[in-house]
Amino acid sequence: MLKEVDFDDPSASFRDKSTWEVGRALAILRLCGIDTFADNGEKLLCWVPESLLRPTIYAQFVGGDLEAELRLAMRRAKEAGLKAMLAATMEEEIESHVAGPIDDQVLDRNSHRIARCVRLAAEEEGMGALVQMKLSGLVRPKLLVSLGHAYSTKGLPVVEDIARQITDGKTSQVRMATLKSILTEEDKDALLRAVGRLKMIGKEAEERGVSVLVDAESTPLNDGLSALTLAGAAAFNSARPVIWNTYQCYLKDAERRVRHEYQLLKEGVGVCFGAKLVRGAYMMQERARTPDPVCRDYKATTDNYHRILSSLLEKCSPKCHMIAATHNEESIQLVVKKLRGTDRSHVSFGQLYGMADHISGPLARAGFSVHKSIPCGSVREVLPYLARRATENRALMEGAQRERALLATEMFSRARRALLRR
Ligand SMILES: Cc1cc2nc3c(=O)[nH]c(=O)nc-3n(C[C@H](O)[C@H](O)[C@H](O)COP(=O)(O)OP(=O)(O)OC[C@H]3O[C@@H](n4cnc5c(N)ncnc54)[C@H](O)[C@@H]3O)c2cc1C
Repeated sequence: MLKEVDFDDPSASFRDKSTWEVGRALAILRLCGIDTFADNGEKLLCWVPESLLRPTIYAQFVGGDLEAELRLAMRRAKEAGLKAMLAATMEEEIESHVAGPIDDQVLDRNSHRIARCVRLAAEEEGMGALVQMKLSGLVRPKLLVSLGHAYSTKGLPVVEDIARQITDGKTSQVRMATLKSILTEEDKDALLRAVGRLKMIGKEAEERGVSVLVDAESTPLNDGLSALTLAGAAAFNSARPVIWNTYQCYLKDAERRVRHEYQLLKEGVGVCFGAKLVRGAYMMQERARTPDPVCRDYKATTDNYHRILSSLLEKCSPKCHMIAATHNEESIQLVVKKLRGTDRSHVSFGQLYGMADHISGPLARAGFSVHKSIPCGSVREVLPYLARRATENRALMEGAQRERALLATEMFSRARRALLRR
């Protein structure tokens, strides 16, 4: 395949990294390739003292917790020609809370952490900044499941009900025509509080010119997440896509879902559409379900990803934005090729902080908009995220191996240069 952008030059790719950073990345990506570590990441990481975690795995994959640390990470990204996409980590095992309550104070605190990301993004990146949000961190999981059932059976009226609740500003009572008879009193109370949190974040983002990209999670939660995300989009996306949804192309029904949600927002509600396109991060959990919602094999996932990418690229415009969030070189080259000679301003690429630097740098230098997803949180808050990085690095197909090989080449040539200088 003809390469549109060269990802094979380690000295150009890692020129912004110190030798310590190159060596650290190499050691950590190697560690993630070891099965025992990838399988037991969280249990093992719990035993590592914070003084060791902080300068190593935490520094590799997390931007920081304090405002000053995050600003520094964002500025370093900017110096490398990249844009920062802050992501407040909140990786509680939400599914395990479906039967029981989750503390409202935790959900309120999460919403303030996301609002802080929106403010920081606006200050550091200006208009058009992107922020990632885990909506399950703002909503009781039991409510998400109830909303998911309601949305999958009734569709648009459920979205309109929630959107009206967001825009009307009446937070003391549920005034929803369709949902009123479906939700329990407890769910209605929880919904009012969830709508309050979503509204606070949406308004902050709308006023500051930021877009909020809602993460896709596991399938029992995704319909509920979509109902709230689409309601947020209906409330805030009239002039530009402020609230975007994420589509996991490892799911067999991803293409139907994208088409349905695009039509619902563009034609049903008449607002703008934003999409983050990913392959999907929860494969082990999803494979254990009956029926298995995931594509037959990796090739089927990739075919799905490329089909959906191609159809969304044709729709991209001031009213339809997309980010291809992937570390896969073939997928990226496909987008680059399709964008040749066309307006690129509504399409961007996304890679995770601490990973795929051999892709992000060259892409940005070739003139594309590249966002680095920068997780923020304390060491304790990000442990589950760090454990997921280990599993996910193993799930990465050729990408992680190529990255390790390029890092090793760069370490070797820096060591040789240092020896020759003596
Ligand atoms: C900026 C950013 C944001 C992200 N946000 C989200 C999010 O909101 N929700 C989410 O779920 N993920 C998210 N991810 C993670 C993403 O879904 C992928 O897990 C990760 O990027 C690896 O996929 P890839 O395309 O980069 O790499 P590749 O190495 O090409 O693909 C690996 C992926 O292929 C799929 N796969 C592997 N083997 C098989 C198989 N046998 N059968 C079927 N499929 C298979 C899996 O999805 C696996 O993760 C995000 C990633 C990035 C970069």
